[in-house]
Amino acid sequence: MFRKILITNRGEIAVRVIRACRELGIKSAAIYSDADKTSLHTRLADESYHIGNSPAQDSYLNKEKIIKLAIEIGADAIHPGYGFFSENADFIKALENNKITFIGPSSKSVSLMGSKTEARKLMERNNVPIVPGTTEAIKSVKDGLKISEEIGYPVLLKAAAGGGGKGMRKISSSNEFESAFEATKREALKSFANDDIYIEKYVENPRHIEVQIFGDKHGNYVHLFERECSIQRRHQKIIEEAPSSFVDDLTRRKITSAAIAAAKACNYFNAGTVEFLMDSKKNFYFLEMNTRLQVEHPVTEFITSIDLVKEQISVAAGNNLSFKQSDLMINGHAIECRIYAEDPLNNFLPSTGPIIHYIPPSGPGVRVDSGFDLGSQITVHYDPLISKLVCWSDTRESAINRMLRALSEYVIGGLITNISFLKMIIAHPFFRIGEFNINFLNNEFMSGLKKLDDIKYIQEIERVSAIFASIQKSKSSFNNLPTKKTDSLNQWQEQMYE
Ligand code: ADP
Repeated sequence: MFRKILITNRGEIAVRVIRACRELGIKSAAIYSDADKTSLHTRLADESYHIGNSPAQDSYLNKEKIIKLAIEIGADAIHPGYGFFSENADFIKALENNKITFIGPSSKSVSLMGSKTEARKLMERNNVPIVPGTTEAIKSVKDGLKISEEIGYPVLLKAAAGGGGKGMRKISSSNEFESAFEATKREALKSFANDDIYIEKYVENPRHIEVQIFGDKHGNYVHLFERECSIQRRHQKIIEEAPSSFVDDLTRRKITSAAIAAAKACNYFNAGTVEFLMDSKKNFYFLEMNTRLQVEHPVTEFITSIDLVKEQISVAAGNNLSFKQSDLMINGHAIECRIYAEDPLNNFLPSTGPIIHYIPPSGPGVRVDSGFDLGSQITVHYDPLISKLVCWSDTRESAINRMLRALSEYVIGGLITNISFLKMIIAHPFFRIGEFNINFLNNEFMSGLKKLDDIKYIQEIERVSAIFASIQKSKSSFNNLPTKKTDSLNQWQEQMYE
């Protein structure tokens, strides 16, 4: 087993990995930027090293500095978390050359799956159904128009190197093609330093279903069932659950077999996720494979009782998978909400500053994976994810009730958060009965949060304001915390209009 693991990430996922290391008796080493000097992960790790200025390019994405540090401090492995270097084949190759174990797949698997067009080709060869479209980059507007005509509009132009919901454009008719083609290419070049784009059929109203897989270095593979991540904003997930209320046993058998075939096709080892779109008839199509731990991994941990991070570390150290497929079954239902510092009533503008009150929910079946605590700063430099609130219960219905209860208990002061917005989604009657697809948020909420039931909303504001008012009375102990905002009740209330 490893003696020391360097964690090349920050926020909640760095904290998650530090906790796994501590339980395994492995030393954890953190890196931190200027902005993260006092962050939770910096304080929790056994050792912490300043890596550079706040912008990610100067710190969490400084490959040379990170590898040099790993060697200097005698780290025998690196856990990348998600984002940053987690899917960067060059970084993994550099570690392989320096005999530092990467806690994840090989650089070869990552580069095979890193290009969406290459991945689509590989899946096609291995009989994994893909979304209809091209497996090569489109060379010209003329070619693109011809192919789109064949596939049939609407189509989606996608960046081959895309990720994070960026670099995608829906085209409904041929006269939109040329300008969309140029714009998508420009965006792809800017965001991914690669302007290859390809065409997929635009699947109408699908659900996003993904399968957690795991492989070891000895050719053993298992799946840990599916997650549903259809509640998305701008193609980014905000609520995830396991299992999916839409997937029946037969569909589950088919989609998990396809996911294992995808993993085998690229000789995959460690944790990975195979993403699919599923139409209303339960036909499913490969979207992409994420060659890392997913943000939403805790819902799978809840329903399977497997610690995915500890298993990642064990498999990276060369051990066999610690469980077989027949050991796994789905127990209950889990839902995750991503808690963001952002303003739903102001186009989801990120909200920055210090957290000046922090009371996370707890109680039966509630897990909060947070990267922050009282006094922590949310800055402009990174994603404004504060934490992930995950609730488990024996049925979906009671997991929903538990999530509503937990969201209501969650108090984060000093910043605007999306907590009330999440509550409205979870309480929505269509969410409750499982009647939704990837367009749910757009259809139900985005044409204006104005559609909301004003009275209920105001009651909610009043209720939470009352909690803040009572905290106000006992807040003298917080007086020394850095505050950007003053703390009059008015301002607390302003924050409640989230
Ligand atoms: P990224 O790598 O940027 O996350 P994905 O290919 O995984 O991109 O797609 C992200 C989301 O975009 C999907 O979950 C879905 O909501 C939407 N999407 C992607 N491809 C299609 C498609 N062909 N038809 C309809 N929606 C799509």
